[in-house]
Amino acid sequence: MQAQETATVERIYDEVLRRNPGETEFHQAVREVLDSLAVVLARHGEYAEMKTIERICEPERQIIFRVPWQDDRGEVHINRGFRVEFNSALGPYKGGLRFHPSVNLGIVKFLGFEQIFKNALTGMPIGGGKGGSDFDPKGRSDAEIMRFCQSFMTELYRHLGEYTDVPAGDIGVGTREIGFLFGQYKRITNRYESGVLTGKGLGWGGALVRPEATGYGAAFFAAEMLNVRDQSFDGKRVVISGSGNVAVYAIEKVHQLGGTAVACSDSSGYVVDENGIDLELLKQVKEVERARIEVYADRVGSATFVAGGSIWDVPCDIALPSATQNELDGDAAGTLARNGCAYVVEGANMPSTPDAVGVFREAGIAFAPGKAANAGGVATSALEMQQNASRDRWTFEHSEARLAEIMRDIHNRCHETAGDYGAPGDLVLGANVAGFLRVAEAVHAHGLI
Ligand code: GLU
Repeated sequence: MQAQETATVERIYDEVLRRNPGETEFHQAVREVLDSLAVVLARHGEYAEMKTIERICEPERQIIFRVPWQDDRGEVHINRGFRVEFNSALGPYKGGLRFHPSVNLGIVKFLGFEQIFKNALTGMPIGGGKGGSDFDPKGRSDAEIMRFCQSFMTELYRHLGEYTDVPAGDIGVGTREIGFLFGQYKRITNRYESGVLTGKGLGWGGALVRPEATGYGAAFFAAEMLNVRDQSFDGKRVVISGSGNVAVYAIEKVHQLGGTAVACSDSSGYVVDENGIDLELLKQVKEVERARIEVYADRVGSATFVAGGSIWDVPCDIALPSATQNELDGDAAGTLARNGCAYVVEGANMPSTPDAVGVFREAGIAFAPGKAANAGGVATSALEMQQNASRDRWTFEHSEARLAEIMRDIHNRCHETAGDYGAPGDLVLGANVAGFLRVAEAVHAHGLI
């Protein structure tokens, strides 16, 4: 078939391994994309000749910096900050900031690499980047979070700009953090540059539907997958891991579309509520009180809390892993398959391990990778940038309709590309190839830079 192209892709992967030792999540993300690209090289000899894949695998710029700050007791802490400006072929670098103790260069590079193709799939003019810090916000006061954000931005600001690099939130970074980051950027630069960050508060340049967008978008994407199989959410049991921004709004949209989200989780365990997760209570516990998920079960008679354990033991028709990378392994995938799960739609970035994806394939489970299914968040960030640039403000209904349309387009493009490249129904290949083609065309047009 494409023996030569397959050998080229293997050579590229070996080189990525050699040059980026120890960055296992980055290797995993690259492997998954490269596995889809031999068919592209077979049709586009120019991308082999111009080493387009090799160039896309190498970030344009990687920034690592010290972030010193003082806690409420006066103790000094040193964290490490990152921003990987991966690819700007389609627009300014765009992607979130993650504050979590697990953050290291390999994690940021995996996320940035995924972001390139995700952003391309949205059809919006945004490049790919990602950043963050190994700072752990858990248990920190508002004042501590503010001092950390100010110190972080005191270094990062020089690399940002509405036409250069536009961060947003990710795990551990929400509207509160974006507010502190924006305030410090404004103070240092003396510019009210709304489009330099997305995920802003509604009163100061934020956009309606941005908070809901990733979760809503994943549910819309799942609805499209159901639709091509002449099914709908009606009467479906759904399990959604996590209880952060993605999970909360995925639950809301699943309920609006007729499904029942029966379980969600945090790092301490999971809750099952056969009546369907009560969204207002979940928001109260996780967003307002910032408490453990167990508190949900304490307040609802129909709910049970399971400490630790795997949420994927809960039988469901549709699974939406929406917590973090590699949260769903081969064993969990086997359990889902045995329990009759027919759809897995990734709300988080790379939550399924390669083993799990293999199990889904074997079992005939319809699977949507995060770079397609969770693209609604960053797509709505691009809508926020659009509103900022035109000093306009759209209604909730208009913004949600745009999001729904974008998710439908992404699904259709992945679906059609999979068919076109000889792998009907394979949304992993469809997403990788469709995303890559859009980036590669622009990279190629810009010459050897
Ligand atoms: N962190 C989100 C993602 O993984 C959103 C990024 C953004 O809005 O820039 O896509």
